[in-house]
Amino acid sequence: MQVKTRLFLFYLVIVAIIASGLIFYLTRYTEGIILNGGQPEALINQMRLVLICGIILTALVAVVIGNILVNRFVKPFSQLQLFARGIAKGDLSSRVSFIDYMELNHLGKTINSMASQLAESFALIREEKQKLELIISNLVDGILVIDEEQRVVLANPAIENMLGLNFKKAEGRPILEAVLNHHLLELIQEVSESKNPLESELTIYHPGLRQLEIFLAPLEDENQTSCGSIIVIHDVTQVRHLERVRQDFVANVSHELRTPITAIKAMAETLIRGAWQEKEMLLRYLRAIDQESDRLANMVDDLLTLAKLDSKIEVTKESFSLITLIEEVAERFLPVQDLTPKFEIYYSETELPAVYANRNQIKQVLINLLDNAFKYTPASGTVKLTVEFREKRIQVAICDTGIGIPEEDLGRIFERFYRVDKGRSRVMGGTGLGLSIVKHIVESYGSQLEVTSELHLGSCFAFNLPIK
Ligand code: ADP
Repeated sequence: MQVKTRLFLFYLVIVAIIASGLIFYLTRYTEGIILNGGQPEALINQMRLVLICGIILTALVAVVIGNILVNRFVKPFSQLQLFARGIAKGDLSSRVSFIDYMELNHLGKTINSMASQLAESFALIREEKQKLELIISNLVDGILVIDEEQRVVLANPAIENMLGLNFKKAEGRPILEAVLNHHLLELIQEVSESKNPLESELTIYHPGLRQLEIFLAPLEDENQTSCGSIIVIHDVTQVRHLERVRQDFVANVSHELRTPITAIKAMAETLIRGAWQEKEMLLRYLRAIDQESDRLANMVDDLLTLAKLDSKIEVTKESFSLITLIEEVAERFLPVQDLTPKFEIYYSETELPAVYANRNQIKQVLINLLDNAFKYTPASGTVKLTVEFREKRIQVAICDTGIGIPEEDLGRIFERFYRVDKGRSRVMGGTGLGLSIVKHIVESYGSQLEVTSELHLGSCFAFNLPIK
């Protein structure tokens, strides 16, 4: 029953009690006479007036007393009730004000402290939830949770990217509709049925070819009742690619080393079998052995350089004049009339700022690039080295008018052991490692090794170096 209804009844009862008391009193005695129908009318009228006034007065007294009682007892109760309703609805910010009634005041204080504790606990839970959400949404690994009915419960952005799934659209929907990968669906089915964790690897083609490592495990609540499954996906595309590159590299190294070794061994055997007796043959074979040994030594040197670069050992840097270094290197490529291409060197300024780098590394870059330019340019062509100071860096370009590089090979020439024309490179004593070394070094100075080339017209390799 509503408080107001109860109050109304309460007033009625009080008025009725007092009114009946008055009626009883007035109808019994007036100056010691019992009232009855035989009394004079004036007296009866006077008594009626007294009776009406009495009832009105009683009603007023009842209202005043009632209001005092309501303010004292009922109002605090409705205040508490309102407050409790607020808590139930989640409003934990308001507090019960001081109640001028001991027990109720205690109750109010207890409810206030309960609300504060609840607010603190909720804030803590909210904070933990936010932390968890932050961690899950920033995980590199994809996480997908499904319930017992195989409906999507949770999916983080990583898995959205991996599986091309939109969690907002997928939430609550059967996994069969949200994930289109047949193999993954089979794995999920298997885990739901067997209730055993599972591990597998998956290749997907969306949006590009990717290798995914998948861990699936059943989920159980505190009563050990199965409540779904969790799927964790780790993108191992890069790892697998590096593994393949390493395997290919080992295979390539073995192959590349074996070629000169086999040649040296074959020639040595031929000589031992008697060829050494023919002077001309002996000289020819010894020269070939010498050449193959050089190739072998070059390859081992290049491999060691690459290994050093890979290990990212800090090299000592110094400020030095690039012009002086270029002049030193250029001596190796002194043109021989009609036998080698023309060599032109151009500096944008006579005084260039000193380069800040490891001198030996830059020397190797220049030698490798010039060596290629001279190797792949006919004697009638030109090799041009340009040095400019631009954008606070020294820009270097080595261009030739040589055989050029086919467009389809341009993206691969920096790979280890990649050669456009294997036979030609070998004949020229190339190892197929020169450009990967150059790229590695140039990138360690915050530059890119840029290449432009046109078949039969020539190639240009450009990079830049820092100054101090
Ligand atoms: P290599 O020892 O075979 O020269 P590099 O790594 O230096 O190995 O070069 C890789 C390949 O790139 C070469 O085999 C060659 O086919 C091509 N190449 C490099 N520089 C030039 C160039 N200036 N002109 C034409 N082809 C080039």
